Amino acid sequence: MKALITGGAGFIGSHLAEHLLERGDRVTVIDDLSTGAMANIEHLKSNPHFRYVIDTIFNGPVLSELVDGADVVFHLAAAVGVKLIVEKPTLTIETNIGGTERVLKAAAKKSKRVVIASTSEVYGKSAAVPFHEDADLVFGPTTKSRWSYAASKAVDEFLALAYHKEQDLPVVIVRLFNTVGPRQTGRYGMVIPRFVEQALAGGPITVYGDGDQSRCFAWVGDVVRGMVALSDSSKATGQVFNLGAAEEISINELAERVKKKVGGKMTIKRIAYDKAYEEGFEDMRRRVPCLDKARKAVGYKPTAGIEEILDRVIAWMKARG
Ligand code: UDP
Repeated sequence: MKALITGGAGFIGSHLAEHLLERGDRVTVIDDLSTGAMANIEHLKSNPHFRYVIDTIFNGPVLSELVDGADVVFHLAAAVGVKLIVEKPTLTIETNIGGTERVLKAAAKKSKRVVIASTSEVYGKSAAVPFHEDADLVFGPTTKSRWSYAASKAVDEFLALAYHKEQDLPVVIVRLFNTVGPRQTGRYGMVIPRFVEQALAGGPITVYGDGDQSRCFAWVGDVVRGMVALSDSSKATGQVFNLGAAEEISINELAERVKKKVGGKMTIKRIAYDKAYEEGFEDMRRRVPCLDKARKAVGYKPTAGIEEILDRVIAWMKARG
């Protein structure tokens, strides 16, 4: 099969490329390197089935040609990371909505299969954990820029489902929960690479808020396998699936585990949300996926728990130096 990955030089995109190549697919990546990096795909360059284009998906003729040449499009190009979203809301909204619109339009010309990478952020501050795909989405006010990410991704989902309904475009939407692994950078706010980097540098480890908020961290290899299985399944067409892991951990506990695993006497420092992000920042207390739908559809089951994930990320960061 021939796959196109938008945002393929990003953290998740590069793992997806690797997985598809391993099973014998041909992979083309388009990435503008805004948050992705050549280093993420360096090891794939020598593979004759791999090709990359450094360009933006807003370049219409280039995108059309790449989509035409593919059997399936994985659309991962987006503005990501809470820090980036709070700092650059215009970029977030325009990239996420405009980018997805262009990808869907190009795919609709020849009815190409599209997998849209959405996010657990769309559940917003809903307290109805675990989150089911058909649950209500609960956003805060438009004056708080964090919600622009959730809203932009929700519009992407509406748009993809509209293309499916009106033009019979074969789309699958995956809502990715906190996904972690090698090559993820802490630059845009993601907590695990940040904690590990901070601990390896001797601290302090920065916990935002009271640290009692919790997340479920998923191994990138599990999430990528789930995405590919859903893209292969015709039964998944026109549907939305959660992908992630269901083991919940508080951010305080996460900080303690990272500290213990790395070793040393570094301090854990609490920073108010207002200082970490912006005045009046709203965080989610808990974010837990219900994974039943993906399990029933394609047998999705996470293989790595938080202990293995931390061990692997620490080992990778140490090796990277
Ligand atoms: N967080 C933290 N310290 C950091 C970065 C993040 O305590 O240096 C917290 C953040 O406020 C959130 C959780 O860790 O409650 C997960 O943050 P991340 O940005 O990784 O993902 P998301 O907020 O999208 O779940």
